[in-house]
Amino acid sequence: MADKRDYYEVLGVSRSASESDIKKAYRSLAKKYHPDVNHDKDAPEKFKEINEAYEVLSDPTKRQNYDQFGFAGVDPQAGGFGSYSSAGFDDLNDIFSSFFGGGMSDMFGSRGGSTRRSNGPTRGADRMMRVNIDFINACFGETVDLDLDVDESCPHCHGSGADSPSDIETCSTCRGAGTVISQQRTAFGVFQTQGVCPDCQGTGKRIRKICPECRGKGYQTKKQIVSVKIPAGIEDGQSLRVQGKGQHGSNGGPNGDLYVEVHIKPHEKFLREGNNIILEIPITAVDATLGTTIDVPTIHGEVAMKIPAGTQEGTVMRLKGKGIPSLRTGKTGDQLCSIHIEVDKKLTAREKELYKELQKLQEETGKETLWKRFKKQFKL
Ligand SMILES: [Zn+2]
Ligand SMILES: [Zn+2]
Repeated sequence: MADKRDYYEVLGVSRSASESDIKKAYRSLAKKYHPDVNHDKDAPEKFKEINEAYEVLSDPTKRQNYDQFGFAGVDPQAGGFGSYSSAGFDDLNDIFSSFFGGGMSDMFGSRGGSTRRSNGPTRGADRMMRVNIDFINACFGETVDLDLDVDESCPHCHGSGADSPSDIETCSTCRGAGTVISQQRTAFGVFQTQGVCPDCQGTGKRIRKICPECRGKGYQTKKQIVSVKIPAGIEDGQSLRVQGKGQHGSNGGPNGDLYVEVHIKPHEKFLREGNNIILEIPITAVDATLGTTIDVPTIHGEVAMKIPAGTQEGTVMRLKGKGIPSLRTGKTGDQLCSIHIEVDKKLTAREKELYKELQKLQEETGKETLWKRFKKQFKL
């Protein structure tokens, strides 16, 4: 992936090349490097590269994404923008159902854009991007401003692409149907096939004078700052929908939606488990033995916590309500403090003296130490 060549470079066309220029370039290159005719050992690789470039540049949506975001815009793994295609759909479905309760199919029931089924207004495709946020911001929520290129319906023609409504006439080739039926005579009889009208590209209309504002495209691309409110308690990998900020529709149809997938940078110390936070607390053997009170960091600030005398390694102490709010219930989780007893290796002379005294005392009084109790089990 590292030294991938620019798709335009691969096909040897300029960035402003028309669809037919791209097709022409692809055909001649594909003919030249097809492994059936070209036995050069680099040919299969070349052929693959050409096909990949063509797959993206021949699709207006993918091409737009590529122009805007480079390879990240067309590679679903890279996590940039990309219109949803069949690949990766199942994974996304998981994310969506975990967050929205329903499946993606519910939301995308009216989704269009990838295939033009009728010559009426068609909704644009959805697009997706990912944002990275800090652990603490995920706990409390934040508003993220996204710099986006958004296609807005042209105010002059309202998406029709015509200078005025009277400039729109019904396509004479398909009589407004958007499709044409062609007949093919074969030895087995006459076959009818239905295809997109070549004169109107399926719109069913012909425009006499195109809109001067948008040059007939029906939309204008504008730089926009879109604020996305990330709710407190969002989990890693969940997505938020921003309505109407996806790809532009066609024939005056609305834009698709933008999905923002949220990624949370892990915290160095706080470990998230659902809505609870786990924090390992190191204490000395002396504090564990005698007990003490410590100020424990939580995402809500420091909280005084009592360590009882005789606390054992691995004891978990709960700080109620000091975790993360739940997206679903609004109830806040707890912080679970896992006690870890650490033995001090750097003792002062006085500390060493006291420890020695304690050791001697335990030996002299004949107290059944931990070790003596253990050894007992080996007496035959
Ligand atoms: Zn216009
Ligand atoms: Zn037509």
